[in-house]
Formats: sequence, C-alpha cells, structure tokens
Amino acid sequence: MKIVRVALDVPVPTLFDYRLDDASPADVGRRAVVPFGKKIALGVIAEIAHATRIPPQRLRHPLRVLREAPGLEAPDLQLTRFASDYYQHPLGAVVMGTLPAQLRRPDPPSRKQARGRFALTETGSALDMTALPARARARRRLLERMREGPLDYAAARALSSQAPRLLRKLMADGLVKLDPPASPAPVASAPAPPLTTEQERALAAVRAGLGQFEVHLLLGVTGSGKTEVYLHAIAAVLAAGRQALLLVPEIALTPQLEALVRSRFPEVPTVRLHSGLNEGERLTHWLAAQSGRARIVLGTRLAVFTPMPELGIILVDEEHDSSFKQSEGFRYSARDLAVVRGRQRGVPVVLGSATPALETYFNAVSGRYRLSTLSQRVGAELPLIDCVDTRGERLEDGLSRRLLDAIGEHQARGEQSLVFINRRGYAPVLACHGCGWISGCHRCSAQLVLHLKDRRLRCHHCGHQSPLPAACPQCGNPQLAPLGQGTQRVEAALAQYFPQSRVLRIDRDSVRPRHAWRDMRQSIQRREVGILVGTQILAKGHDFPHLNLVGVLNADSLLYSADFRAAERLFALLSQVAGRAGRGTAQGTVLIQTEFPGHPLYQALKHQDYRAFAENLLAERRQAGFPPYVYQALLRAEAPRLATALGFLGDAARLARRLAPPVTIYDPVPAAMPRRAGRERAQLLVQSESRPRLQQFLRAWYEKLAAARSSPARWAIDVDPLEF
Ligand code: ADP
Ligand code: ZN
Ligand code: ZN
Repeated sequence: MKIVRVALDVPVPTLFDYRLDDASPADVGRRAVVPFGKKIALGVIAEIAHATRIPPQRLRHPLRVLREAPGLEAPDLQLTRFASDYYQHPLGAVVMGTLPAQLRRPDPPSRKQARGRFALTETGSALDMTALPARARARRRLLERMREGPLDYAAARALSSQAPRLLRKLMADGLVKLDPPASPAPVASAPAPPLTTEQERALAAVRAGLGQFEVHLLLGVTGSGKTEVYLHAIAAVLAAGRQALLLVPEIALTPQLEALVRSRFPEVPTVRLHSGLNEGERLTHWLAAQSGRARIVLGTRLAVFTPMPELGIILVDEEHDSSFKQSEGFRYSARDLAVVRGRQRGVPVVLGSATPALETYFNAVSGRYRLSTLSQRVGAELPLIDCVDTRGERLEDGLSRRLLDAIGEHQARGEQSLVFINRRGYAPVLACHGCGWISGCHRCSAQLVLHLKDRRLRCHHCGHQSPLPAACPQCGNPQLAPLGQGTQRVEAALAQYFPQSRVLRIDRDSVRPRHAWRDMRQSIQRREVGILVGTQILAKGHDFPHLNLVGVLNADSLLYSADFRAAERLFALLSQVAGRAGRGTAQGTVLIQTEFPGHPLYQALKHQDYRAFAENLLAERRQAGFPPYVYQALLRAEAPRLATALGFLGDAARLARRLAPPVTIYDPVPAAMPRRAGRERAQLLVQSESRPRLQQFLRAWYEKLAAARSSPARWAIDVDPLEF
C-alpha cells in the first residue's frame, strides 16, 4: 500500500494521508485534487509513505494527481519545509501560499483565462466616460479599471458577473482589445559604465564565490552604485548559464530598477513577481521562472520561494527593509530565507544596504559573511546633514523657522525640497519637553509606553508597569506629553507659506492608483512640483536630480521608542531620506528638526558613519541582552477583550515554564498598538542565547498550544519578531 501525504492549506500543522497505489517518487511536489471532508481541495504531495494511522475504512484516494503539470522540485519543497519548521507555521499553508492563486484552485485555469488580458484601445482610452449612459454602470467600472492597466479574465469577472458579455461587446465596439501577454516591448540596450575601484573589488569578491554558498554584505552609502554591482554579478551568473533572483522591498515603487535591468539585458527574459500583478500575470511569470525560461526574476518578499531550476545567485537589495518580514499570518523573513535558500542550493547570496540590519552587520564583522564596502558616491557628493534645535521654539504647524527659510531659498533657486514626516514609532513614549527627560524602564533598557486608557506606563519588553507621573521626575514640569505630535497640517501650512510653489503630498494612499506614482514621478522630474511632502514611502531609492533640500520632522519619536530596534530603524530611515538630497550636480542639505541635537545617533548621521553607529549599537545590545546577542520569539494573541488575550498568554507562559526550557520567558504585555480592528492584542516574549535551543523549545510549546482544541484567543508565534 502506498500513501501520499498531502499538504493542504489549512491552519493545522499536519499532512493528510491518501491512498495512491501507483504513487512514485516523481509525484512528490506535484499537486493533487483530494476529497477533504465534504469538499474538494487541492494540495501538494509532500511525502510518500508505506503506512498510515488512518483506519483503512476511512482512508480515501486522491481524485486526481496533476501529473501533466510540473510539480515543485525537491529543493523548493525543502525550502518550504524549513520555513514551516522554523517559523512554526503549518507546511500546507506555507507551500500553498507560495503558489500563484490559479494553481491553488482545484479547477485548472483555461489557457485563455490564464494568459490573455483585456486592455483599452486608443479609442477606448480617449472615451469620455461621462458620455456613457448612467445605467451602464458595469461597463463603466470595467473601462475605468482598464484605464489603470490591463485586466485579466478573473479580475474582470470579479468586477461584474456580466463581464464576459460586456467585454465581447466592448471589443466589438473597438474600445477594448485582447492584450497578448509577456512579450515585453523591445528596449534599447544601455551600456554599462566602467566600474569604480570599490565596485570592482566588491564584484570580484562575488564572482570569486560563484557556484558555492557564501553570503556577501555589500555595505555602500546611498548613491555608491550598489545596483551596478548587482547588475554585473547578474551578468556573470547569466553567462554561466544560471538564473538570477533579485529581491527588492517594494517593486511597485521601483519601476526604475526594472527598466534598468531590462535596458541592461534586453535579450534576457526577465519577469517580475510582486503583489501588484493580477492573477494571470502572476501565473505566467511564475511558470516562466519555474520552466527556466525566465533568466532573471525581480520580485518582492514572496518571490524568495519562486521555483528556479538553475538558480545561480540571490541578491537582496535594501536587505534591512522591514517589508522583507511578513507581519501577518506566515511571519517569515524573506531576507533570512534567501540565505537559507542560498545554503540549500549552494549559491551565493548578496545582501546590499547602506544601513544593514544589525544582525547582518554582526554576521559580517564576526566573519560569517563577507563584507565589501562602497564608501563613495559615484559622481556626486554626500549631502550635508545638520540638526535644527527646536527646543524653546514655538513651531508653527510643526515647521521651524530655519527649515522654512531654507525651503524659501531653494524655491528661489528653482530647486526642489522634500519635507519628510516620520510616522513610525507610534507607541507613544512620554517625555518632558522642558528638560528632555524620557520615561525609561528601570528594570531593563527599553522605554515605557504610554497607555492612555488606564493611565499607566508599561514596558513592552519585561512587563514592568507604573502609574503616570503627575510631573517630570527630573525638573517638575507638569506638562508631560508624548514625543512627536502635531505634523498633521504640514502640507496645508507649506502651501500657505509658499503660494507660488506646487506642494505634492506622497503617501501610501496617494500612490495607490495604478499609474499615480509614475505620473507623480514624471511631474517631479519635469520640475512641476516645488515641495514634496511625504512619509516613509519617499525614503526608498528614488532619484530626483533637482531635489537638494530634505527637511525631517518628528524623528525624535523613534529616537526614544518602546521598541529597542527603533534607533536602528531611525538611522536607516534618515540615511535613506538624506540619500534623496543632492543626487544631481549640487550638494544636498538635510535638516533634521529635533529636541535632542546632541544625541549620538544624530552625531553619527551627520558624519554618515554607519559603522561607528552600528558598533555603538552592538555594544548597547550586548549589554542589554538584545538581538543579535539573543534570539527571540513572540507569542501574539488577540481577542475581543484584552483580559482574554492576556489570560491566554498567562496560561501559555505557565505551560512554557512547565516545559522547563533553557529559555527565558517574560510576562505577557499588551501590544504597542493594543487595539486593532476591534480586537485587543497582547504578546509574550521568549528568548534564548541559542537559536537551536529556542527552536527546540518553540516546537514543543507550539505542539502543546496547537493540541488544545479551542482557544479563547487567536494566537500565532512570531519568530525573530521585528515589531513589538
Ligand atoms: P545605490 O543603489 O548604492 O544607492 P545607485 O546604484 O543608484 O546607488 O547608483 C547611483 C548613481 O550612480 C546611479 O545614477 C548610477 O547610474 C550611477 N553609477 C553607478 N555606478 C557608476 C559607475 N561606475 N560609473 C558611473 N556612474 C555610476
Ligand atoms: Zn523635565
Ligand atoms: Zn522593562
């Protein structure tokens, strides 16, 4: 008797056994349609076995094994298995989550549905929508959606059940055409510039290690030409007949990179894989990578799992970026899995950043990774960074006099300015704006978080809590307030101060429509915009040659935050933001408004000395017993009432202690943002100096927790958590 053990997308950490007498080892990795309860489900065959604990009368057969389509290869399955074990997430959910949606459904997509996309013709694009009759609602929805880009069959059906009929009609009217997929427009090839000595050296290190596992940290200041090193490394890998995987934080915002890759390798089939694709595109691109047809894959987080039979290198750009860590559901780090995959496949991994994650930097200086440095900008100078001391200044709408004057001067010269508003660090920390006192925890080196609801300060690290002080314990000032307030009106205020200039706000919402960001970028490049106001989204690698001044507001709230990683993130964020200034011919200026101008972080930033900053931070972390010197995991729980979530975690902590583990178990605490979507969230930290010991404990703990049939709270384990 042969049994196939199938991974199904269900939230339990088991495989499901089915009897398949003609099963062969080649079936492992193939998809199978199976009866599941009263339903039919699709899963991936993870193992073949010769025995099962299912009684014979209840053992069922797969309805179909999809042998005509290629399955996942052993190394791909191996990666998902590692991820499932390491992140304590069911294998079925992990494996199925890596497949394009259409391969997850029991009914196979028809060829046409999978490939063709509907797009507007020129007549369709020029059509005045207001001229359509009012009752043509579905037609208008389709047309409007297609204005944002081609639409696949499934997406059209989702907009209207009438879509097939309407699309036929629109095509007959000459407004819509069927767009053939993925024969990208020919691009002019662009020659590569000669490399600088530093670039040469970094490239030589990578090339020397091709064909074997090795992790390189490419530590290069903004504008130092890291991308050029990636491109040359990719060229070397392609020449060796292998495929290259390039991971980036947010591809929807970096079409520049894709254009660059295409122009450098016009003959090389390149595909993108990111969340902005529709189902059909995603499937086509994924299959191209899996078949080996696509030689370069450019993708975000999830693309780390893309099957690539001839994988030769993995590159992770902006490796410190928090978007590589999934923060919901299957909480994996694509950066860390890239390293695991590199090791499994015996290929090099290149991690690039101006401000690497401290974990990465630590690995590099301790010799586990190879370090290459690019210390100079190519053809431009690094910007001047200075602090604007806002103590004692009454800020108008959050803007200091000095920053306003500087913006005015740049406007007069026809140069652009960027006002960057930090919105991170939401967990409010109490501060005295008179003397600079900050509510710190006396039990550990974290900051206490202000919980207004019950007027208490809590440490999210160790669980210590105290009532709100009535006045500053240091100077007696009764007006204590959370750090970082009052930046809501900045955009309107700037428009008032500079009526001649166009002020453009760029945040996650304003760039959401499909072409909005491209259009904005173009009008910035054409200098139709004088002042940019933006949040985190603007920090990422954009190149605006006329942007010479960057003002930073509300950075202090990350300087003293409940999260011990806040300073690291702030340094990365400000380096990136500063990197936007002076990419053209003029030197850029960066002005940071702060109440703590003497803080070592700002001092290091002024000198753009990541290594000095990182060494300091490492010393602090070592002393405080924080990562990278310890390994952590959080048990996160949420429930309609906070008491329920905390109660569940209390039980989980007792359970953990009964396992008598060689790990430290802290007390449950409310999450930094306790309330979300009507549910209260809390967490419990466990940590150990040994990763294997922590893993061993987590496995035992997870098994016990998962064995409880019902739980009063929804819970999940977050391994190597980034957000507290
Ligand atoms: P980073 O990714 O390190 O911030 P980029 O790769 O964006 O830096 O490079 C910054 C700029 O320098 C880009 O405009 C790039 O085209 C240019 N550049 C990079 N390397 C060279 C080189 N060797 N010669 C000339 N220009 C270069
Ligand atoms: Zn004070
Ligand atoms: Zn504490």
